[in-house]
Amino acid sequence: MLTPVERVAFVLLAAACVGWAAVGFLQVFRAIARGRGSLSTDRVLARAASALVAVLSHRTLLKTRRPWAVAHALILFTFTYYFLVNVVDALEGFSGFSTVGQGGVWGPFNLVADVLSVLALVGMTAFLVRRFVFRPRSFQFNPGVLLLPEVVRGIRRDSAVVGAFILLHVGSRWTGQAIRIARHGADPWQPLASLLGELLRPLPEGVLAVGEHVTWWLALGLILLFLPYFPRSKHIHLVFAPVNLTLGLPDPPGRLDTNSRDGTGAARLEDLPKRRILDAYACIMCNRCQDACPAHGVGKSLSPAALEINKRYYLNRHLASFSRGAESPALWEYAISTEALWACTTCAACVHICPVGNAPMLDIVEMRRELVGRGEVEDPNLQDALVKLAKYGNSFGRPERQRGQWTRSLPFPVKDARKEPVDVLWFVGDFASFDPRGQERSQALARLLHHAGVDFGILYEGERNSGNDVRRVGEEGLFEVLAEHNIRALDRARFRVVLTTDPHSLNALRNEYGSFGRSYPVVHYTELLLQLVREGKLQVRRPVGRKVTYHDPCYLARYNRVTEPPRQLLAAVGAELVEMPRNRENTFCCGAGGGRIWMTEQPGKERPSENRIREAAALGVDTFVVACPKDYAMYTDAVKSCGYEGRMVVRDIVELVEQAVGLQAEVAVG
Ligand code: SF4
Ligand code: SF4
Repeated sequence: MLTPVERVAFVLLAAACVGWAAVGFLQVFRAIARGRGSLSTDRVLARAASALVAVLSHRTLLKTRRPWAVAHALILFTFTYYFLVNVVDALEGFSGFSTVGQGGVWGPFNLVADVLSVLALVGMTAFLVRRFVFRPRSFQFNPGVLLLPEVVRGIRRDSAVVGAFILLHVGSRWTGQAIRIARHGADPWQPLASLLGELLRPLPEGVLAVGEHVTWWLALGLILLFLPYFPRSKHIHLVFAPVNLTLGLPDPPGRLDTNSRDGTGAARLEDLPKRRILDAYACIMCNRCQDACPAHGVGKSLSPAALEINKRYYLNRHLASFSRGAESPALWEYAISTEALWACTTCAACVHICPVGNAPMLDIVEMRRELVGRGEVEDPNLQDALVKLAKYGNSFGRPERQRGQWTRSLPFPVKDARKEPVDVLWFVGDFASFDPRGQERSQALARLLHHAGVDFGILYEGERNSGNDVRRVGEEGLFEVLAEHNIRALDRARFRVVLTTDPHSLNALRNEYGSFGRSYPVVHYTELLLQLVREGKLQVRRPVGRKVTYHDPCYLARYNRVTEPPRQLLAAVGAELVEMPRNRENTFCCGAGGGRIWMTEQPGKERPSENRIREAAALGVDTFVVACPKDYAMYTDAVKSCGYEGRMVVRDIVELVEQAVGLQAEVAVG
């Protein structure tokens, strides 16, 4: 079909565009290679298979914005199929052979292309209308979110270019098929292009002949012209999203990377691990992480999406120099403000929701490590908490000998696990040991364990803060001191299993102490209580019989995937559970994690805990059940500040169990 001149022009254009694109890709690879450490390649085949399933199923995208996820799937499948279509079209152009009207393998081939083309055109048009006409809230950032100047117009321009490219590329190819049908006769395998072909048939033969050439060039010439733009466009996620998904996330998901640079974190892009630079190229700028972020949700200046997008636009602008080794500015000068860095609760919602396996939270921890290492912690409350933790081993600044004081008012002694063997070693945690509200719940749990005949003990002043949140604040050195102290105490004790009240401690003991060569069987108290109820050691005599909702703690549900035992326990004690929309691994953070509980409250339209209480209140339940001592404190305060006192009561699940077993009077509202 192509003339000799067209053939030469196509080959020359292809050589120029491929060469230009190769330079861009090489720069991108060099930029990623500047990151720290290496890219993990263990179990790469299994990971690649899992990544393929994730991409084809769109399972993470489908968690939210479902119609748009379906539209994205149509575009992806079309684009993938179009690799084959483009090769066939190129061969047709050079050979003169036409698949139009052919049977055999070409019939089904053209049928799939015909249907996918129209679906992709509809899907892409819908995307463009949404972004440019409806401009949904999800694509906007809170005031105060740090954004590179080119991001604001760059995202819209990039989306417009990519959208126009897909419409023109797919639309031209489909129209080209219609023109061929108009010129050479009907093709039952292309019913949709045939409809357009019927409309075009009355056009003069000369116009149709020119149209065939023009649409061929628009379809295939555009692909060539797009190639050099590809490494700088949003479309590069087609290459790096599968790579990112193949490389996977930390396993177990709660474990932080210990591979810090000389004991410090990251100030600049090149200080980050390679994976974190790669994140910027995998990002599809969908803002799903921002939608899930509790800090952004309450109006703060933190946006995990903006962090990735800023990294990406910085790289776009400085790719040549950065790939050659130029030093980049501190990340907090252009990618994320220090205020936003400290707003993060390390809830991992952004990591969980990201469809391409990005982990903006890990960047944040790296930058916090750096700021802490430089002594640039500005929040006086956080400074104070870190000093207390270093001096006393707890954030309350209380002498360690007071750690076990809450046991004194119990009518039975609690064993000292440092002095005698126990079956269950209860690692109590700071809040459950020192906060008066936490102490009452600890006493309730102790009464239940005693009633059930469990052989348990605690470490008394041998226990220190687990260090989970100290680590997420970025104080790696203090985390190590605390962890080593606890490990020495645990090494000296004899026990079968560790019990924790606090999901943060559970995460540290289960996932973080592994870097010190320790691995403990750790259970959460909801798991142990469920087991005791099932074994008949705790008998339900007075079913709770009330409607409740349950809040999944991030460090239990999202980090450690413990979601069903608390629900089964609630069912076992006769409570009727009404789920909040954000439940299980999609839970919404209380706002206390990542050391936020020690920090000064930042301005925002509400607190995350208040947002959550309003979500629960909309269900019409009067009892908000928690399974974390910090949550108890956060949510009782939120009930008061939201004005729900007398309408809603916060209860630790242990209180409902105690009531059901008959050790405590019925829980009242208010
Ligand atoms: S970890 Fe949570 S608070 Fe931090 S950026 Fe991600 S979603 Fe936001
Ligand atoms: S980091 Fe992930 S969830 Fe966030 S905008 Fe990028 S692709 Fe979307």
